[in-house]
Amino acid sequence: MPTKSFLAGEEGTLTVPVPAYLIVHEKGSVLFDTGMNPAAAHDHGRYTDQIHKSNQLHVTPDELLDARFMQAGFDLSRVTHLVNSHLHYDHAGGNSLAPDVPVIVQSRELDHARRAGLPFGYVAEDFETGQSFTTVDGEHDLFGDGSVVCIPTFGHTPGHQSLKVKTGNGTFVLAGDACYLRRTLDKLHLPRFRADEDAMIASLMALRELQTRGARIMYGHDPEFWQDIPQAPARLG
Ligand SMILES: [Zn+2]
Repeated sequence: MPTKSFLAGEEGTLTVPVPAYLIVHEKGSVLFDTGMNPAAAHDHGRYTDQIHKSNQLHVTPDELLDARFMQAGFDLSRVTHLVNSHLHYDHAGGNSLAPDVPVIVQSRELDHARRAGLPFGYVAEDFETGQSFTTVDGEHDLFGDGSVVCIPTFGHTPGHQSLKVKTGNGTFVLAGDACYLRRTLDKLHLPRFRADEDAMIASLMALRELQTRGARIMYGHDPEFWQDIPQAPARLG
């Protein structure tokens, strides 16, 4: 994608990873974001032609979520909770891989996705899968013990949320697109596109506050950051 999409004013292009996360808790297993639609790998033209032309998607079948689960030896049917940071095509594309699991999303995000549609990065076939939605407003504690909590981080989209996860190895904040890159947070260098700039800055300040208190921020699309992060089948926490 054009680098300015991630860092306003910068030239060139940037190739970024598209992460998804599995959190295993004694009361359930949580999928946070689902990456690309399998059609992006299997039927490249049909799917990608409907997305922004300036973006090129590279995804192979063995990078899709179902393949990653298989590589990790984890049966997708064990997923009990599916949380979307937001409903853009690189975050909700694989929702249909867990067809019986309700999708937890901020209510204002679902409303916006349905209204805004394709020109704003929302592909109906990604999230209108027949799955039920559990819509939430603001913070939402999945297991009631403070270990896995949706936190509103509006700004990238009107209803974006991040996930705060407490593990034996500390607290992680899966930022999603509230914070694309480490530089976004360190320098407050905003992307070109902001649904709501004031909300985006407030969300970044909230992430900084969590970082100050010791949380580790998982940047949504930072290619350098992800080079050093263990990925499935390895474990982080
Ligand atoms: Zn994204």
